[in-house]
Amino acid sequence: MHFGFQTVTEEERREKIYQVFENVAKKYDVMNDSMTLGIHRVWKDILVHKMNPCPGTLLLDVAGGTGDIAFRFINYVRSVRQRQLQRKLKHHQNLSWQEIFESYQKDEFNSLGDSQVVVCDINREMLKVGKQKAEHLGYSEGLSWVLGNAEELPFDDDKFDVYTIAFGIRNVTRIDLALQEAYRVLKPGGRFLCLEFSHVSNPLLSRLYDLYSFQVIPVLGEVIAGDWSSWAQVKEKVKTPLDVGCMGGVINRSLWTKHHHQVDHSCHLDKTFVNFF
Ligand code: SAM
Repeated sequence: MHFGFQTVTEEERREKIYQVFENVAKKYDVMNDSMTLGIHRVWKDILVHKMNPCPGTLLLDVAGGTGDIAFRFINYVRSVRQRQLQRKLKHHQNLSWQEIFESYQKDEFNSLGDSQVVVCDINREMLKVGKQKAEHLGYSEGLSWVLGNAEELPFDDDKFDVYTIAFGIRNVTRIDLALQEAYRVLKPGGRFLCLEFSHVSNPLLSRLYDLYSFQVIPVLGEVIAGDWSSWAQVKEKVKTPLDVGCMGGVINRSLWTKHHHQVDHSCHLDKTFVNFF
């Protein structure tokens, strides 16, 4: 396996990736905003809109890092519940004032109902920053944080309605194993949503992106996080096995045959995803 210009073993690659995220965890969010000019927020919003979770959805966000997808999921489900409750309140004839008062008292407007989201990440530091952020932003209900490897998930079979992985699959050493695990933990009919960089075929755009990645990103890393090498490595890591550009995909587990997660990881993304954003 190539990591930058060197050939490294799977174990070395896993270790390097771990170190990169351990080093950058505290500055990860601010770097994400500056490196993408905030565009990653839009991509993540689109992912959650595509998911369109209903109250009661059980979501697993793998490689969830500092919780961006989980927080968006919570906001989305809350807003669906608020709309439902507002509709109920509009028809006052069906609700007594006592019931309306109780709804407010129980803070039902902000409740997630039966929905839950589990953020799973291999990196303790990223999870730590995520938990602090959740506390600060007031997210706690229905949210849990689990240390775990996408290639060997610590969850039962057929458990989740939705599995998401945002800018995470490129970091996983054995993508075939991660996909098998996604398949295993999803309920039949559950959905797999992936947000990831992909190839840019336009040579001019590709050149510009390379310039940005190799010249600008490490400088931003040094200025903002005081760490040149981790951000230089992030780009090298992104080069394998995927390249640049952003894509997302949704697949329903029922459509996902065994063949799909056994194909070679260098081509599985194109073959697996049925809908592109
Ligand atoms: N999903 C978050 C987001 O979009 O902001 C974080 C993405 S960050 C680029 C990649 C994350 O993948 C890191 O938090 C890293 O620790 C995690 N990661 C890398 N390898 C992993 C693995 N094998 N299993 C689970 N998480 C992994």
